[in-house]
Amino acid sequence: MSRVERMRDKVRVVIAGRRADRSDEMFSGVRPDGQPSLVECPNCRNPMFPVFTFPKGAPFLNLPKALAGLERVTLDVCPHCTHSLDNYFVRLSGAQRVAVGGYLDDGEAVEHIDLPYASAQVEVVSDRDFDPEGGMIGHQFGGDPSREEERPISACMSCGSGVSFMGCIEYDDSEVPLTENGGSPVALIIGDMDALNLYVCNECPTINYVYAR
Ligand SMILES: [Zn+2]
Ligand SMILES: [Zn+2]
Repeated sequence: MSRVERMRDKVRVVIAGRRADRSDEMFSGVRPDGQPSLVECPNCRNPMFPVFTFPKGAPFLNLPKALAGLERVTLDVCPHCTHSLDNYFVRLSGAQRVAVGGYLDDGEAVEHIDLPYASAQVEVVSDRDFDPEGGMIGHQFGGDPSREEERPISACMSCGSGVSFMGCIEYDDSEVPLTENGGSPVALIIGDMDALNLYVCNECPTINYVYAR
């Protein structure tokens, strides 16, 4: 039996393109003050890209008690290799995060992503105001999963407890603050224009990332 809980309110998070500064609590990438810390990719050993950092009070997160003690929640995807082609999880404890699992091949980086990472502000848009026809890329938070999963999970990959659907990180070729080869803008690649559904554990401080088409 699946123990996956749903959240009601759905919003879209849009990367706004302007650089984030220290006062931005919600942002993509690495802020000028070096926040958040980075996580090593289990496959290629490069630092994973912190796609979003949210303060714990962001209402659309609706965090279960296992994560309520954190100051902020950061979501990590490796832009350097094919790691996100299979399910993985990231354990969060204070400012420390550890990524486990995912697609493991020879560990070679396939993209020449520039480091250090830049940052960008993000905006929350209600689902009603979200306009994909206008070229907006909106990463979904809350609501129900809208992408089909290759290998659905029915429990936390770290501890086996029930999970709650948190949202979905989309393939993003719009405003994501990623560059390659010394400054060329590059998309956040997840498979072939695919996505990652996020499930937060109800019992342990873990976010599960499920590859979805
Ligand atoms: Zn990697
Ligand atoms: Zn768990």
